[in-house]
This record gives sequence, structure tokens and C-alpha cells, in this order.
Amino acid sequence: MEHPENDKAYKGLTVNSGVTSQPCVNPYRRPRSTRRPQLTVSDYVEGILKGNVSVLGQAVTLVESLADHHQALAQEVIEKCLPYSGNSRRIGITGVPGAGKSTSIDAFGLHVINQGHKLAVLAIDPSSERSRGSILGDKTRMEKLSLEKDAFIRPSPSAGSLGGVARKTRETIVLCEAAGYDTIFVETVGVGQSETAVHSMVDFFLLIQLAGTGDELQGIKRGIMEMADGIAINKADGDNIDRANLAAAQFRNALHLFPPTPSKWRPEVITYSGYYEIGIDKVWDMIDRYFDYVKKTGFFEKKRNEQAKYWMIETINEQLRNNFYNTPEVKALLEQKELRVLNNEQSSFTAAKDVLDFYFDSLRK
Ligand code: GDP
Repeated sequence: MEHPENDKAYKGLTVNSGVTSQPCVNPYRRPRSTRRPQLTVSDYVEGILKGNVSVLGQAVTLVESLADHHQALAQEVIEKCLPYSGNSRRIGITGVPGAGKSTSIDAFGLHVINQGHKLAVLAIDPSSERSRGSILGDKTRMEKLSLEKDAFIRPSPSAGSLGGVARKTRETIVLCEAAGYDTIFVETVGVGQSETAVHSMVDFFLLIQLAGTGDELQGIKRGIMEMADGIAINKADGDNIDRANLAAAQFRNALHLFPPTPSKWRPEVITYSGYYEIGIDKVWDMIDRYFDYVKKTGFFEKKRNEQAKYWMIETINEQLRNNFYNTPEVKALLEQKELRVLNNEQSSFTAAKDVLDFYFDSLRK
């Protein structure tokens, strides 16, 4: 077809029809496959134990995959990595959007790496989807850290049930530890349920707060404050220093009213500036003190054991729920029962009992 720009109305340039591409010089050449060869369990495990970042990344992708055969492979890799995991400091970091989490993680992360550690930054954000907007743990948010070879940054597994997303993050911790990362940050947005999930997989929980926005307990639920082992008040720089100190005093007072934490550790409140890197070492000293303390009292081990138990039960719950809701006959019966309940033909309780009875009967067969 004649090119439209060759019309008389267009003056100047003409567009020539292209030449056909040259025949292939080597008729035996096969285009190189762009798919990576599937690694075996021992490829994954060896790669991870050697600290190979690319293999670690692929293993995490496997953990995050929803495909059954990937899941089976992932579980084998995790089992094999388990004996090499556990030797790290796991630190949860939360705060409302804008509190300065990514700026602070950048600064804290560099501090940790400069002390000779290897750092993995993971995230739990059940609302996030890979394709959309900014994501917790995204490399682009942590400009300095993303250039460090000793930092492994991974965004939140994409949207799914909180339980599922959290389990994947916990499994990723195992892989990162086996790969030699001795400091793990798990980031989350301080607005909801995900804090409980993060709390159940970290040793220390840091709440990042702001001063000078009027309401000093900005949107942070009491429950989240109760979980915190430390509160770090960010943006204590420039005109904001006095307000940050005032907020720190208010938080210290508020913390006095809370019941003692299970570790008997008294949560500390520290002011700092993530952006200007002022007081990063103060925050880190607090975290060091905490680890010294819980290792001495034995609380460190106790909490890790409780978490292991919690995750076993959580995994069972999740698998049971998935199995139940993904059984086609159960799905069909549920739909029928829903209609009956909506039409007041059956009570919610007898309908639930009928569906459960049907499910348990089908298991016995
Ligand atoms: P996030 O949403 O919690 O990850 O917050 P960000 O790290 O993206 O920070 C939100 C905004 O606060 C950005 O514009 C930062 O530049 C700014 N910010 C972060 N930390 C500081 C700080 O220590 N001091 C000041 N003045 N601004 C900061």
C-alpha cells in the first residue's frame, strides 16, 4: 500500500517502501530461546547457599507463584534451606504512608551494610499489585540501597489474601537467610492488619512516626503502638526538631499507660532524621540494646519458637480454607445455600452445617 505521507498534500519528504529482509545466512541457526532453563531443587539450594542473587531471586519468584508445581518445588527448596536459616536479625518496620519509611530504610540499610552486614528488604502490602503504582520494598524507592551489592530488595508479593502474602514473605526470609543475609527488614504500611502478620515474623518491631502534624498519634491504631518495641520519630530536622522532641515526650507518656510487653523490654522513643541522616546510630543502638537484652533473657528463642508454631497453624488454616473453597462441589452447594439463606428459606447456621457436613462426608469417601 502507498504510504499516506506520499500523498501530494505532503511536501518535502517521500517515504520509500522498505527492502525485504535478507535471507538468513546460516539456515541451521535456531533462534535462542528466551526462556530460562528450569532449575532443579539442588540447583536452587546450591545457588542460594552460595549467595547467588539471581538464583535467590528466581527461588523467591517460585515461592510467590500460584502454580501447584511451582509451589511443590518451592516447598522442597525451603525445606532444604531451613537448616541454614534463622541466624539473622529480623526487623519489622511500619509507619503510615509519608512517614518516611523508604527514606529511613535507605539510611538504616546503609548503616547496617557499613557495619559489614548483608541486608534483605522485604515487604508485606496485601493491597499492592505489581503493575500498579508504588510498591513497598520497591527498588526505586530506596535509591542508595539499591546500588549496594550487599542489599537484596524485593517488593511485596502481589495482592492476595493477607495470610497468603504473609506466608510467602516468611518463606522468603528463610531463603534470604540461607543465602547469607544476616539482617532482614520487613516493611509494611502502618494502617491495618498486616502489622500483626509482620509482628509474627520479626524479632524487633519499629514504628516510624512523625511530629508536627497536629494529631500526634496520627492514624496509628493503639494495637500497633502496643506491638512496637521502639518508636522512631522521623523528620527531626530544621524547624521540626522542637516538635519532634515534644512528640517524643507525648509518646513516652502514652507508652507508660500500656501494659508491659511480653519481653518486659521497655519500648524506647527516639527522634531522628532519615533524610539528613541524623541520629540513625541512635536508633540502631536501641535495636542493638534490644537484641542484647532478649538474647540474655531467652525471650529471643522463646518468641522464635512461638512464631514457628503460629506459622504452622496459620499454614494449616490457609490450606484447609483453600481446599474447602476450591472444591467444585462445595462451591456449587455454597451457591445454592446462599440463595436459600437470602430467601429466608434456611438459617445461616443450618446452611453452614449442611455445607460442612457435605465436605467432611466427601473427605471420608
Ligand atoms: P514512605 O511513604 O513512608 O515510604 O515515605 P517516604 O520515605 O517516601 O517519604 C515521604 C516524604 O517525606 C518524602 O518527600 C521524603 O523526602 C520526606 N522525608 C522522609 N524522611 C525525611 C526526613 O528525615 N526529613 C524530612 N524533612 N523529610 C523527610
